[in-house]
Amino acid sequence: MIIIHINCHYAIGVILASIACSFFYLNTIEFWLIVIFSTVCDLDIFLKKFALDRNHRNLISHSIIPSLIIIIIGTFTLWIALIISGISYLLHIIIDTLDWGTNFFYFNHKNIGFRFLISKEDLRNLEKILTEYKNPTSFFDFKYYKNKIIQTIEILLFILMVISIINFAYNYLYIIIFYFLGLLFHILRHYHLLKIEKN
Ligand SMILES: [Zn+2]
Repeated sequence: MIIIHINCHYAIGVILASIACSFFYLNTIEFWLIVIFSTVCDLDIFLKKFALDRNHRNLISHSIIPSLIIIIIGTFTLWIALIISGISYLLHIIIDTLDWGTNFFYFNHKNIGFRFLISKEDLRNLEKILTEYKNPTSFFDFKYYKNKIIQTIEILLFILMVISIINFAYNYLYIIIFYFLGLLFHILRHYHLLKIEKN
């Protein structure tokens, strides 16, 4: 699947946490909480065997529900960091609708997405196209990295992350290391897939 890569979600979490730092006092745990909540729901990939069509985005964790619960708990306990963490989670879900779509409202089991990375033509012939690849993931991965919009978004998010952390949360600068780990994972996978398809 064309999934907005984990480093982008992470960058958004760091931007949000850094900006929050300029408005509120956040301790280290709270800062990390906001960042973690921007990526944590992708761990449901390990539960995909329980999901409809084995797509982890059909799980409740990729719907709007968990973030609303987090925001409500944060509101009742007056814990501002938890409210922002809920927003961080919510942003992940909204952004996932931009590419392949996600089971946004969960209970109606409708996959909501703009699918801007895939043309209607491709969507219609998807099964046939996928058979042309040794690993179906290659199709989605190559589409992702060839896409000019995606390249621009990746670069912009990185720049915004660096600017906001330097300006608002300089003592958390080390957090950028984990961005590169996420990026490295995707780049290694990309070259691995290229190798598989060439052979
Ligand atoms: Zn996701």
